[in-house]
Amino acid sequence: MEKKVKALYVITIACIVACLGMQGWWLYGRYVYSLAEIEKVTTAALAAAVDDYRAVRSRAMGQMDKNSRFFMTNYNVDHSRNLSQSTMDAKATVTITGYDMFEVLGIPRGKVGKKEIEAFRERLKTDLSHPGIVEEKAYALKGISNKVDLMEALADVAMDYLKPFTVAGMDSVLKSRDISASARIVSADSMIWKSRAIKNASLFAPEMQVLFPVNALDRKAVVFSCRIPPDKVLGSMLWTFILVISVSLMLIACLVWQVATIARLNRIDKTRRSFIQTMVHELKRPVSTLKMCVSSLENEKMMADETVRQEIIGESRTAISNLSAYFSRLRDITYNEAGQIPLNIEACSLRELVSEEIRKTDRPHGKSVRILDVSAEEIEVVCDPLHISQMLGNLIENAVKYSGDAVEIRIDFHRDDHCVEISVADDGNGISEADCRRIFDKFYRTRSASDSDKPGVGLGLAYVRLLAEAHGGSVSVRSREGEGSVFTITIPQ
Ligand code: ADP
Repeated sequence: MEKKVKALYVITIACIVACLGMQGWWLYGRYVYSLAEIEKVTTAALAAAVDDYRAVRSRAMGQMDKNSRFFMTNYNVDHSRNLSQSTMDAKATVTITGYDMFEVLGIPRGKVGKKEIEAFRERLKTDLSHPGIVEEKAYALKGISNKVDLMEALADVAMDYLKPFTVAGMDSVLKSRDISASARIVSADSMIWKSRAIKNASLFAPEMQVLFPVNALDRKAVVFSCRIPPDKVLGSMLWTFILVISVSLMLIACLVWQVATIARLNRIDKTRRSFIQTMVHELKRPVSTLKMCVSSLENEKMMADETVRQEIIGESRTAISNLSAYFSRLRDITYNEAGQIPLNIEACSLRELVSEEIRKTDRPHGKSVRILDVSAEEIEVVCDPLHISQMLGNLIENAVKYSGDAVEIRIDFHRDDHCVEISVADDGNGISEADCRRIFDKFYRTRSASDSDKPGVGLGLAYVRLLAEAHGGSVSVRSREGEGSVFTITIPQ
């Protein structure tokens, strides 16, 4: 049984650890998934901000600059498709021509109004013959998969020449969209056509980095760094967390409860066995005395001797009264309340009761037991004498049982105004502070008592307390481990 319970403990602990590990693993997976979702949303927000900034720059391109120039862009693509593949090679040119308003209209430089600007625009619609400022950029491209992307990239070249992408401009768009990210412009080793994540956030390094092309043909890109604090991710998993923690706690509580129940049943079984053993041990002595007395009655020679006869009758009486005391003890301990115990109150001499108990005490063979009545007073006490004897008997028996090879027991009693105090002190094993709080509980035995082979079921002191309370009194203990104990019974008078 012990082995099985131990195995059960180990299995339960392993189950708890495995269960917690699995829950932790699952939670981590859920965390990674939530983080990826947040990253996806953040990347989409950054893409929208980049598009926004591009639209702002595109609008600015269509307006006259501060030097009264208006620019026109022209793209030329000469491509050949690779028949074996789905890509194409191309030679592309971006031509940017800037027209000066004063030169085109042939008017002196100076202040201009709306009328002149309108006339300038109209002239450019029909006449582009006037020489402008030209910037021309040519690219030889290989493996282009999409012509639309190429045209967009050519437009980006022109836009980047006329309205360059700036970190400050991007920051103001990010701010207007309430996105907290920092941007930095980078030059790539190769052409970048699509945005891509260059660093994903994790639980311990919560910063993500995404790269967006700014001017693919000139290999210019912008990198955004964005912090995704763990509490943001955890916040999005709040209900999952609460659910997992509650289920785990419930599971652990069930397992612990199950083990505790099995341990309790195991303890009860052990107590039951020990109880039966002690009962048999206690009953054996008076029964064998009675057996001996009955066989002596058959011996005519012994019966003829009056002294021997009286001795045998006396022994039989003691054995019978021991049996009866034992049964009443068994009966009394089953009462739940001290008030239910019947009392036969009478006045009796305390010294006589103490002397009788000292005389009756069993002294184990080979052990030195010294029991002293150290009281100076002669006290008459009103009580149930049988119960006082049983209390004293139990305390003396324990003092003998829980001590080494030699023990000295000192019994003292005195009267106060309203009560009688009887103390039984020994210089035995002593009791720890934690155990002192529990030794009067039914079936409680200290660990050292349970581990040793000393008989007992943990009912002795519970019985002493029950009898003291039946008299309206109490019992207390003062003890130090290794030094001894003092039990004090108080009976009100
Ligand atoms: P039992 O003797 O059957 O174990 P008791 O109720 O009489 O039960 O005692 C409860 C526990 O208190 C014992 O297991 C023992 O460890 C401790 N105890 C009782 N009396 C003494 C004592 N005089 N010295 C040391 N320990 C004691």
